[in-house]
Formats: sequence, C-alpha cells, structure tokens
Amino acid sequence: MSRNVFITGASSGIGKAIAYAFGKNGDDLILCARRIGKLEEIKADIERRFGVNVYIFELDVTKYDKVSKTVKNILRKVSKIDILINNAGLALGLEKFQEYSITDMEIMIDTNVKGLLYVSREIIPNMVENNEGHIINMGSTAGIYAYAGAAVYCATKAAVKFLSDGIRIDTIDKNIKVSTLQPGIVETDFSEIRFHGDKERAKDVYLGIEALKPEDIANVALYVANQPKHVQISDVTIMATQQA
Ligand code: NDP
Repeated sequence: MSRNVFITGASSGIGKAIAYAFGKNGDDLILCARRIGKLEEIKADIERRFGVNVYIFELDVTKYDKVSKTVKNILRKVSKIDILINNAGLALGLEKFQEYSITDMEIMIDTNVKGLLYVSREIIPNMVENNEGHIINMGSTAGIYAYAGAAVYCATKAAVKFLSDGIRIDTIDKNIKVSTLQPGIVETDFSEIRFHGDKERAKDVYLGIEALKPEDIANVALYVANQPKHVQISDVTIMATQQA
C-alpha cells in the first residue's frame, strides 16, 4: 500500500536519491527544501516516471514558525504521515575549534539539531494520533567517531543519534519506529558547501577512495522502511569499502 513519505533536504544529494527510491517503490512524497526550483524539477520527473503524487514545499528547517505552518498546511493535504525522513543537514568549515566562525557553528546546530527537532515535534503528534509511524534520521559516522576540524559537526550528528534513541523511548507505546542512518563519505554537494564553494578543496575529500553514492544510502533507507511491522532497524552504519 502506498505510504506518505515526508523528506527534508530533498533538493539534492542523499535526500533527492531517497525521493527517487521511495517514488519508484510506489510511495507518495512530500518533499521539502529551501530551493523550490530544484524540487519543482524533481516533482515533475518523479511523477512522470513513477505515477505517484509528489507535494513540494519551500521550507527552511531552522525557522520554527515556518516549519509549524508548513506542516499544518501539509497535513491538510495528506492527513497522515507514514514516514518522516529527517535528512536536511550540512557541515560548514573544517577548522580547529578555536579558529571556527561562530556563525558556521550556529548554522550547523540550527540545521542539523534544531531543524530535526522542529520538524519532528510537529509531525510526531500525527503519528501518535494514528498509532503508527516511522522516523528515519540522517546521522553520520561523524556522530560515532570525532575527526579533526569537525568538533561541532560531529557533536550535531551525535545529537541526532541520541535524539533518535530518546524519541524511540518516548513513543514506544505508539507503534512508532525510529531509525538512524550513519553514512560514511558520500559524493554529493556536501563538501563543496562545507568549503563555501571551493570546488578544488571539495574534490580533495574524495581523493584515493571510491566514495558512496547517494543511491547507496537511498537503498538502505528503503530497506529500513520496508521491514515488517514488528521489525525495527534502529541503527545502520554504511561505509565506503575503502574508507578507514
Ligand atoms: P547535499 O548538500 O547534497 O544536501 C543537503 C540537503 O539539505 C539539500 O537538499 C539542502 O536543500 C538541505 N538543507 C540544508 N540546509 C537546509 C535548511 N536550513 N532547511 C531545509 N533544507 C536544508 O548533501 P548530502 O546529501 O550529502 O547531505 C544530506 C544529509 O546527509 C545531511 O544531513 C548530511 O549531514 C548527511 N551526511 C552526508 C554525508 C556525506 O559525506 N555527503 C555523510 C554522512 C551524513 P536546500 O539547500 O535546497 O535547502
């Protein structure tokens, strides 16, 4: 049966690949991101290829009022969210903690932690009401092992893991599953954004190893979402074979 799948950060990279994977699976999609133009292209292509319904919403997950209004608007259209995929996120900079820009630190915390909180806080009551749901949060291996120059990014992804675990405990009597995906290095716009558009520096990140593709993570997300009702995959770590 077709499900309503809500994906944040669906305009590029992993979120976009997840949208295609679930669309191909026959699910209806609610796609959010700030770049509405990209979402318009994705909506047209997925609807044409797979014949599912795709709703798109311009949304900055760091703005609570906007999140709240948008989710209310979405729930008037689709009435039920079966799966929420909190994927929107970013890293900015790769500097020693003492040299980091406060602005970059704040943007990472606002997007990766507060954004996930805002969206989840607005959608989980709908799942509670329906006595079922599945939340899939995009963590990272950065949330398991800290690495040089990324103290704040790693802390945000460790927070994602603990928010997943805490939400699972608090909703355990409501048939709500919570899963954390923890990818290693994936080739997306992530690195270019991290280095504020410096393409050469971004390219160096992948030197010497074959990185994961966004579709690799999307396949895992779909596998996690397609388990029987009594099976909950709580955490998955997905590494590039050559990544140490
Ligand atoms: P991309 O840069 O390709 O995608 C990031 C997505 O997040 C975009 O769709 C972007 O949309 C969205 N986004 C960013 N900020 C906001 C915001 N304030 N409000 C709404 N949407 C926002 O990178 P990835 O696909 O690689 O990243 C997706 C997730 O995967 C992130 O959480 C990242 O931390 C995680 N991850 C990535 C890894 C990698 O190596 N690439 C490894 C492990 C985890 P828009 O700009 O249109 O708003």
